[in-house]
Amino acid sequence: MTQPLALPIAYLNGKFVPVEQAQISPFDRGFIFGDGVYEVIPYYGGKGLRAREHLERLERSLDMLDIPNPYPLDQWEVYLSELVAKNGGADQAVYIQITRGVAKRDFAPPKGLVPTVFMMSNTLARPSQALYEKGLNFVSLDDFRWGRCQVKSTALLGAVLLKQEAVQMGADDCVLFRDGYLTESSASNVVVVKNGVILCPPKDNLILPGITYDLMIELAAQHGLPLEMRKISRREVQTADELWATSSTKEVIAITTLDGKPFGNAAHAGKPGPLFWKMLGLFQAYKQQLRALAAAAE
Ligand code: PLP
Repeated sequence: MTQPLALPIAYLNGKFVPVEQAQISPFDRGFIFGDGVYEVIPYYGGKGLRAREHLERLERSLDMLDIPNPYPLDQWEVYLSELVAKNGGADQAVYIQITRGVAKRDFAPPKGLVPTVFMMSNTLARPSQALYEKGLNFVSLDDFRWGRCQVKSTALLGAVLLKQEAVQMGADDCVLFRDGYLTESSASNVVVVKNGVILCPPKDNLILPGITYDLMIELAAQHGLPLEMRKISRREVQTADELWATSSTKEVIAITTLDGKPFGNAAHAGKPGPLFWKMLGLFQAYKQQLRALAAAAE
């Protein structure tokens, strides 16, 4: 049997519909040009983790493409909660996909298009304890994506090709470098630990400003973990003590193999390092607070 496309209920242009019945026009500019943006928002026990921040980033992505935001942020939150509830309320990753709309094929978009809005939800399976202990296997690749990586665009061919190349090399994913400096991964931010300091690439046009990245930076500040945001050279990455990836679906996870070799400080090469375990603990505590808040609100 083929896998279901997503959890059973989706949202399309104002209606909740069975996911197999969601249909859009082949003339949609999302299909023709990849002219659209998206978001992925984690929900735990029916409560969004930083949903507002995800919606604000969605609005920034739309603004950068000059696509009007179809709904005010409060309305988005209502639709999101409704979709999660209709799909059973358990832990879910909700995808919002918005395109510029349907039009005759022409690069220049006509005025007054109505954006297409689609939402679907997937079961959110956080990495298993065994995977946290093992860590991920990444390869270094050259970042050939476009120059506006801060836009969460549905045009993801760069990410698709890079991840495909990493998987063909037997890895889980890639660490990307542009002009000799660390950017991110195909679908996560990447940070380095060196001499007890968490080093984070700057939030410029070369990376997606991750919501999980921001949460990690906040948790580090709250708990007195030293952190610097600056450009990080390939050499610094190669000689770092620890390497982590962060994203809404992975949270924070260690990269323990890089380019086929066990990664990190000799004391724990090939295994997640001490600061990783500390940060993972802070994430879990933060999420537990969120679950407790959700339970208390019921
Ligand atoms: N960088 C890229 C290219 C991504 O696609 C993602 C998430 O999909 C991230 C970083 C992490 O962002 P977030 O923490 O908001 O999920």
